[in-house]
Amino acid sequence: MCKEIRTRIAPSPTGDPHVGTAYIALFNLAMAKKNGGSFLLRIEDTDQTRTTADSEKQIFDTLRWLDLGWDEGPDVGGDFGPYRQSERFDLYGKYANELVEKGEAYYCFCTRDRLDKLRERQKAMKKAPGYDGHCRSLSKEEIAAKLEAGEEYVIRLKMPYDGETVIKDVLRGEVRFENNKIDDQILLKGDGFPTYHLANVVDDHLMGITHVIRAEEWIASTPKHIQMYKAFGWDMPEFVHMPLLRNADRTKISKRKNPVSLNYYLEEGYLKEGMINFLGLMGYSVGENKEIFTLDEFIETFDITRVSLGGPIFDLEKLGWVNNQH
Ligand code: GLU
Ligand code: ZN
Repeated sequence: MCKEIRTRIAPSPTGDPHVGTAYIALFNLAMAKKNGGSFLLRIEDTDQTRTTADSEKQIFDTLRWLDLGWDEGPDVGGDFGPYRQSERFDLYGKYANELVEKGEAYYCFCTRDRLDKLRERQKAMKKAPGYDGHCRSLSKEEIAAKLEAGEEYVIRLKMPYDGETVIKDVLRGEVRFENNKIDDQILLKGDGFPTYHLANVVDDHLMGITHVIRAEEWIASTPKHIQMYKAFGWDMPEFVHMPLLRNADRTKISKRKNPVSLNYYLEEGYLKEGMINFLGLMGYSVGENKEIFTLDEFIETFDITRVSLGGPIFDLEKLGWVNNQH
């Protein structure tokens, strides 16, 4: 039997929800629905200092406005909420320690002072900044003594020193990264909180995500994630890095050129159908060059391999146009 297709978006609730979130949500939802699968919402609120309840609420409101709601989550009194990483904190430490036991990750006791000096030295030598693997070679006894003395530590992933990590991206084909340019990522921070990398991979695995469809800006994280899948011995999802939305001058969309807050469009009374149409045409064409379609039609004809990487232009005139057609 074929595996159920499961997709997700994983926004961090740290500000106004971005149009890019709805764009990525639309493609994830269509991928799942077209194949009778499930679309999940996971709130990545590991950085508690930047998370706001208001931002989270705006994510829910704008997704629901666009009919891009999610299919499952923890029970919140008859209904289901989204998954929240802050409600799963106990889990991540266990997985980081599993990698330590397997010899795939290690305790790093380096102080801020040592890391600052390392960075200065690298700068003076015109070398790229990065952790130097200092704590990889600590003996069991040294580690035990440091733990005994209550020294603070982080857990770092061991990246291979040589070779390449190859991403097989559904849209881009093979994307290669040299391992020696990738730092030993921190997985668990000094305060016991997970980093984005750890929580993201553990959750994608536990939630059975089959297709990780996310913005191009995350592609540099993917080789690190691939190393983690290998270290855990887990099956890898398919990776799809969607093109970045751009201003007409091809720069990455930003609020200096266009309103990028989804809330803005909701509050200004834009039509949800127009918004879906607009987002669905970015880097994508619905068969027969159809310019007007419903969400259902978008899903029915959906084929992720039709996404083109040309750098879709966020063209507000077009949004005005599609809104007038509805
Ligand atoms: N938390 C990341 C974000 O804010 C998730 C990226 C991903 O989809 O893996 O978009
Ligand atoms: Zn260290």
